[in-house]
Amino acid sequence: MANEFLQYQATLEGFGCEVRADEPMKNHTSFKIGGNADLFVTVGSEDQLTAVAGFCKEKEIPLFVLGNGSNLLVSDRGIRGVVLRLGGAFCDIGFNEDGTIHCGAGAQLSKLCAFALEHSLTGLEFAWGIPGSCGGAAFMDAGAYGGEMRNVVVSCEHIDLGTGERGVFAGEELDFDYRHSVYSGGGYVIAALNLRLEKGDKQEIRAKMDELMGRRREKQPLEYPSAGSVFKRPAGHFAGGLIEQCGLKGAQVGGAQVSPKHAGFIVNVGGATCEDVMGLIEMIQKTVREGTGVELECEVRKTGE
Ligand SMILES: Cc1cc2nc3c(=O)[nH]c(=O)nc-3n(C[C@H](O)[C@H](O)[C@H](O)COP(=O)(O)OP(=O)(O)OC[C@H]3O[C@@H](n4cnc5c(N)ncnc54)[C@H](O)[C@@H]3O)c2cc1C
Repeated sequence: MANEFLQYQATLEGFGCEVRADEPMKNHTSFKIGGNADLFVTVGSEDQLTAVAGFCKEKEIPLFVLGNGSNLLVSDRGIRGVVLRLGGAFCDIGFNEDGTIHCGAGAQLSKLCAFALEHSLTGLEFAWGIPGSCGGAAFMDAGAYGGEMRNVVVSCEHIDLGTGERGVFAGEELDFDYRHSVYSGGGYVIAALNLRLEKGDKQEIRAKMDELMGRRREKQPLEYPSAGSVFKRPAGHFAGGLIEQCGLKGAQVGGAQVSPKHAGFIVNVGGATCEDVMGLIEMIQKTVREGTGVELECEVRKTGE
């Protein structure tokens, strides 16, 4: 089908952004799955971001904000309209005057963890190995090994896609909950995070990061493309444990497989499509519901046509 949004490419480029037409989303998701984005736009400054957001609103162009694509299942038919990625100045990390960290939402979470280590700041060790962007981590309230973003994020700066205005949510306003934030309903681009960490001992911080990364390597199928844990943790259970208990380790639909190493992960063992993964998710949910009475809810976010 013709790309009806191509007509806007030149205007978007005129804002100084990098724009790619018909960009394969499988190149931008950790699952290595997804059809084409009509327009894949990388913004490098606040001015470019507000210009693109305003233009998309004016022309009623659907806009999807991409982080690092590590919690996404993109449809085989791709994404209509604009996929927005934060680059340039949105990847900068530094200190505010009050000693908190100011971090662009496009920065890799791993870069933020390395920054914290470099400055002997503790509190983010849990996030070492989560392959997201800082914006995506705030959006999801990403967490692991007893730590969560909500413990360290003081405030987030954003653009409201409805009004085009800049704003800030702080403290309670962020509405953090398990894999949830005020941003989860969409309608905002998170531009930056402000975080408070504590002074710590560099050797201890490094040792903790190494230990947690070791646990990931041992338990998780990092050798295959995936989007991490597919399901949220149901109260009182572990999703992986329930899936394993139902005999689903290794179950496969097309190129999508329940990881034999960690049943909470679906891995792409070669050429998996979104449809394969969706089929496997439905099979898992049905089997676990019938076998244990527990309803598994997706943590991975499905997007696209
Ligand atoms: C091997 C592996 C291990 C993982 N381990 C963990 C783990 O231990 N703990 C955990 O919590 N997660 C884990 N994940 C999942 C994933 O890394 C996290 O959910 C991460 O926070 C997603 O960030 P992202 O930048 O990749 O977001 P994306 O996947 O790109 O996007 C996720 C959602 O956030 C939105 N979004 C992203 N950036 C912005 C922004 N700037 N403004 C507005 N909305 C935005 C997107 O629109 C989308 O709805 C793992 C994934 C993999 C592949």
